[in-house]
Amino acid sequence: MGWLGLDDTDHLGGGCTTHTLWRLLASLPSSVQVGELRLVRLWPLAPGRTRGNAAVAVELNPTDRDALMAHLDCYWSAHLEPLSGLVESSHHSDRVQHPTDPGMVWFDQPPSSALYWRAVRQHVHADELPVADRSWGGLGRVGATAAIAWPATTVTYEAIAWRMEGQTGPRGVDGEALAEVDGMEGTFLTRDPRRGAALLAPRGPSPVLFGVRAHDEGTAADAARVLLEAAGTEAASGWRVFATNQASGDHLGEDASALVEAVEVDPVRKHAIVQTDDGPWLAYVESGDVNRLARWLRAGDRIDGRGLMDETGRRHLEALRLVQHVPRQHQRPLCGACNVRLKSMGRSQGLRCPQCKERTSDRWEEVNIPPPFDGWVEPPDGARRHLAQPLAWEGRNDGEEHQKV
Ligand SMILES: [Zn+2]
Repeated sequence: MGWLGLDDTDHLGGGCTTHTLWRLLASLPSSVQVGELRLVRLWPLAPGRTRGNAAVAVELNPTDRDALMAHLDCYWSAHLEPLSGLVESSHHSDRVQHPTDPGMVWFDQPPSSALYWRAVRQHVHADELPVADRSWGGLGRVGATAAIAWPATTVTYEAIAWRMEGQTGPRGVDGEALAEVDGMEGTFLTRDPRRGAALLAPRGPSPVLFGVRAHDEGTAADAARVLLEAAGTEAASGWRVFATNQASGDHLGEDASALVEAVEVDPVRKHAIVQTDDGPWLAYVESGDVNRLARWLRAGDRIDGRGLMDETGRRHLEALRLVQHVPRQHQRPLCGACNVRLKSMGRSQGLRCPQCKERTSDRWEEVNIPPPFDGWVEPPDGARRHLAQPLAWEGRNDGEEHQKV
């Protein structure tokens, strides 16, 4: 019994690494029993990785461990080592290009979960890794080891199906089956309710046909069968259910609290940088309500936020809440006798009632403009990180619809 981990075989996100693992499993001698498959998302801000930074692992029970190691040696040299040095497709061309550096590890006993907790929240160097019983390759060993070290404290499942070899272009996933899966008790993030778009089929060049997420393994498998057996779904080359840390919230620690010092908004793209006493908090326009609330903030407001800190000390917001806000606007008071708004007579000239002409000293009163949201807000379904736990799961938004202005 032992665990095999694999990472960084490509730059197109988790989908391809799952495919690489699936092909490796297909190559194994039939005497090797295959246990749990894992898809483990790691620190999403890792340099050179896609937003979905993912590694895979599988529990294997060989009758002959030495024969399995010999097989893995051959498989590594023939199929995985040649994947080294690939650069990202033009799909992600706005990112810095980091050539692939695949890694594979074997542990007879899983390493301490401490490595997982570091790797999901920050950068981990290859020289910090616990020593594997066998290891192959380069930097991919970090994610591969972390995937095995995952303690699975919060688990969801994803059934992933792969396209036939060489299949490209738009993916054929049956619309009625998709609606059925969307309505199944226990599935989640199958469809973006705002745009009506399916979230389970990836875009761009990937061998993944679809990935359907669920709270339990059985539901994930049932949902995959519904999709695969439907007439409008293209033929798949295979499918598997993975245990995952998706929607676990494992990447985030305690909520941060801060005082707003200034808000800078990109005039074109509407991205917001909230300068705070905790450093800059970023809310990209894709973050929807988080961005809307961020743009509403003013110096002096108190806010709570959740999000990873990048290596330059900027927090990338995944949830935001207004705790207390300064008054938004001032106006002249009303005349006590006439109930008419007083008017300024000019700089240092005091105020005068336009009706009774009574003069008073120059002053302002505060206008209470309600904030656009009450309580926590999060990005829309399609824009959240794979690791992000929906607010509704935590009971943090009390299940109420957010009030919008
Ligand atoms: Zn008056």
